[in-house]
Amino acid sequence: MEIVLETKNLTKKFKNIIAVDNLNLVVYKGDVFGFLGPNGAGKSTTIRMLTSLIYPDSGEVYLFNEQLKPNSKSVLRRVGAIVESPDFYLYLTAYKNLEILGRLYGITPAKNQIMEILEFVGLSNRWNSKVKTFSHGMKQRLGIAQALLHNPDLIILDEPTTGLDPQGMKEIRQLVLSLSKEKGKTIFISSHLLYEVELIANRMIIINKGKKIVEGYVKELLDRERTTYNFNLSNLEKAKDILISLNLEMNKDFRINGSDLEISTQKISASQLNKIFVQNEIEVYAFYPKRSLEEFFLEITQGQK
Ligand code: ADP
Ligand code: MG
Repeated sequence: MEIVLETKNLTKKFKNIIAVDNLNLVVYKGDVFGFLGPNGAGKSTTIRMLTSLIYPDSGEVYLFNEQLKPNSKSVLRRVGAIVESPDFYLYLTAYKNLEILGRLYGITPAKNQIMEILEFVGLSNRWNSKVKTFSHGMKQRLGIAQALLHNPDLIILDEPTTGLDPQGMKEIRQLVLSLSKEKGKTIFISSHLLYEVELIANRMIIINKGKKIVEGYVKELLDRERTTYNFNLSNLEKAKDILISLNLEMNKDFRINGSDLEISTQKISASQLNKIFVQNEIEVYAFYPKRSLEEFFLEITQGQK
């Protein structure tokens, strides 16, 4: 798989806090990559480093297999981003804003190109309205339009749905999905909402306090069918042999984690297993479901909105 974006030990400190702490992540071509973390986790700081708005203290960013630092001008030409709330000329029209912002990128988009982009983000009927008359959701969509002007391969969006009502959030999600499906763009999108990432992303990373918690395929990380159970048993070796005789595979269906046997399988239920262990004279000291990613995320975001 082709790698579009990679960070290696990316680190950024502000005085006494480490906002981004040795972060490694990989985004593949065609991904809708969810960058999930509670408020203050370090998402915006990371995104600002990805787009060269600030520089890391250590570590590297690679975009399209090129190191960002010495090549930022050429590689960033292939990146479109909205970082925080985009600024517009409020007294100019949506069309005029895109024309001017295009010029700032060093391109002169043709009228039909601007209209096509406005159509894509659902603003073609308001092309000639002043931006000051736009809702927050419309401004966010104009922000995405702005990020598309130079036809980038990678689009980086920093919490584009924040502050929107549910309908506005849905419109942004649909826009992101069509950018991926219809236009074949690779998308890096940050969020503090697990359900939002689950709705749009194929791969994701969760960060907290600047550090990676997990990274992987959303389906695998949030597999709702599969529940993991931990068994604390008197005889782990014997239990292991039983599981192998039941055709369960070590490392795939079960693993030993300290003094616990950790089982995540759909082949056999936890209560069946409990019975089998007891029948084989293995004492089951404790037997509990492992915290799902969802619960875990809820816990680290507790007390935040
Ligand atoms: P997120 O976008 O995930 O909410 P941020 O990247 O904005 O998180 O912030 C990560 C941490 O870095 C927070 O503790 C924040 O207060 C701190 N931080 C961000 N920018 C600055 C800055 N310019 N100066 C000092 N601290 C900062
Ligand atoms: Mg942020």
